[in-house]
Amino acid sequence: MRTFAALTLGALLPLSSPAQLSNIRGFPASAQPAERRLEQQAQSAASAAHIRAYWENMASEPHQAGSPRSRSVALYIAGLLREWGLDASVERFEALMPYPTVRQVEMIAPRRFTAALREPPVAEDPNSSDPHQLPTFNAYAASGDVTGEVVYANFGLPADYDWLDKHGISVKGKIVLTRYGKSWRGIKPKVAAEHGAIACLIYSDPHEDGYFEDDTYPKGPMRPDDGVQRGSVLDMPLYPGDPLSPGWASEKGARKLDRSEAKSLMTIPVLPLSYADAAPILEELTGPVVPRDWRGALAITYHAGPGASVVHIKTDYDWTTKPLFDVIATIPGSEEPDRWVLAGNHHDAWVNGADDPVSGSAALLETARSLAALKKQGWQPRRTIKICFWDGEEFGLLGSTEWAEKHQSELREKAVAYLNSDSTAKGWIHISGSHTLESFAAEVASSIQQPGTNQTLLEAAVHHPPSADTDDEPAAGKGEKPFSIGALGAGSDYVAFLDFLGIASMNEGFGGQTKSGIYHSVYDSIYWYEHFSDGTFADGEALSRFTATALLRLANAPVLPFEFTRFATTVEGYVSEIDKEAQQNNVRVNLSPLQHELDTLKENGTRFNNELEAALSKDTLDATRLAKLNDTLLRTERVLTRSEGLPNRSWYKHQIYAPGFYTGYGVKTIPGVREAVDSRNAPLARREVQVVDECLSELNRLVSAAVQQVQ
Ligand SMILES: [Zn+2]
Repeated sequence: MRTFAALTLGALLPLSSPAQLSNIRGFPASAQPAERRLEQQAQSAASAAHIRAYWENMASEPHQAGSPRSRSVALYIAGLLREWGLDASVERFEALMPYPTVRQVEMIAPRRFTAALREPPVAEDPNSSDPHQLPTFNAYAASGDVTGEVVYANFGLPADYDWLDKHGISVKGKIVLTRYGKSWRGIKPKVAAEHGAIACLIYSDPHEDGYFEDDTYPKGPMRPDDGVQRGSVLDMPLYPGDPLSPGWASEKGARKLDRSEAKSLMTIPVLPLSYADAAPILEELTGPVVPRDWRGALAITYHAGPGASVVHIKTDYDWTTKPLFDVIATIPGSEEPDRWVLAGNHHDAWVNGADDPVSGSAALLETARSLAALKKQGWQPRRTIKICFWDGEEFGLLGSTEWAEKHQSELREKAVAYLNSDSTAKGWIHISGSHTLESFAAEVASSIQQPGTNQTLLEAAVHHPPSADTDDEPAAGKGEKPFSIGALGAGSDYVAFLDFLGIASMNEGFGGQTKSGIYHSVYDSIYWYEHFSDGTFADGEALSRFTATALLRLANAPVLPFEFTRFATTVEGYVSEIDKEAQQNNVRVNLSPLQHELDTLKENGTRFNNELEAALSKDTLDATRLAKLNDTLLRTERVLTRSEGLPNRSWYKHQIYAPGFYTGYGVKTIPGVREAVDSRNAPLARREVQVVDECLSELNRLVSAAVQQVQ
């Protein structure tokens, strides 16, 4: 999976505060030349040719989680890491991972049509004819055998049902047909089921990622008429990971829920369709013509139904528990071995996954090799570095979640930060994450060169040409905005680290010049990636350098590089959004306590920046003071969590970031308060303000303590 929309990097400007502090935040001036030399060495070790070699190996065959080939990929990764002299372990978990056994979609009235439910081979693309492909399906949808009239529900968002209601159209007892886009796919059947639908079909309209956008594969990069998007419909906004072990690790012999108790499983049958399979069903629909923005790019008039299309759907799965293989490489720290800096990328794919995830996992392997090369020369980081390759991400962040749940007490105590990547494409760097790492992210991006230019990654991200998939003017032409990174939703393996454990996290990747219509399809192949994405691996190499540099800084910085004024300003923006919404929704809730804490945080953060700059320039911090200070800084993200979690979803502990309950991948910031305001529940909103207020005041106490400790 990936969340391109959540990876938005705002227009960038060089930051004023880090420049005033020092060139590299957290390092005394005297230590900076050595750190820069080390980073240069790691950066020059990274090579696109190596990345291509790992990529070709891992993407050469389908390797979905639970299959023997996923295990082979894990062993290949572990073998490379060991060959480079790194300590690598394979940690085995297991999870309920249903593979499809029966898939049928047929229209029985007003005429007969049987959906093909398969992606045919493309002559140019040898991967597309591999016999080991997992068929098209939506993981964790229910087994069932249903027949009913069809209602077209646009993107299947809650608001789409308002229009249907207004037109007297109920989906109760009906089959909902929705299109991919606008929300995470799992939200569509969830909302359909809440409205009484008996099944849900999700199709890829050519308007979203097909011929409306560009030529279709193999002539162009977009989804062909038979292309299908596989994907999970696990209720991840409730909890990710093995559905049978929420909050604890799913290992052999561990306690498991009964399948009937697993609340994250979809309750109705769901299948994904190509537009070739969806068009005949849509074409026969009667009822009102849908609004303009509900219409896709098929050459038909889009009606809402219900009828005249009547469809029969039959699905079944093997419902077995299958193994997961995570690979963890460890470089022990010399001075603070019990402080961990982590980076991860998943290795499982729906099919071959040349783009998702192998483009990213190959780049992370090269990061590991670059650091292993430094280690061979006798270098050891100050803190421990862990580089992780996760299994089962596509089914529902399984491998990373089970690992984080297993090691939760150790991680809460030791983890400094988690860096995530996933598929990466061509363009410029996109970063999202914890806003206490915003200035750090900008600093790292300003110390690496954008491929083929004499700009830094940061400059390229400011002055980039229009995106491939929009007609936007260049960002630089739109006026200058301050640097910003997006907030994280639930698109990849950072979720357990950030949302469950409160570990400051970042997600990074390249994009903007690649158009793609092969997401989760058999056409996410070697041929496609070579022809339509980062086929030279120049941007993959830059991503590898970015991750290596970020790991080196987080692992070596005498003072951890967290910064709080940017966090305060960003969260202030969230508070004013919620305030506006509360007024619109007539929800009486007083947000001024939060504003008060954020004002104080800005003052404390500024004082901390100033005192830190003074201490680092005079080099006055001894080992004892450093240890105290870093312990304080380590806890600044942790105090933004509450062990009781969010209302109705206790697994999600972070009070500032969470995937939206009805947006999925899309982030909801200050989720407890915001979702209470969304649902017009004033008493809950007021209670949640108190919870967030406590978190922010605890953060203020820590930053004040850091000011004292740095003096
Ligand atoms: Zn992915």
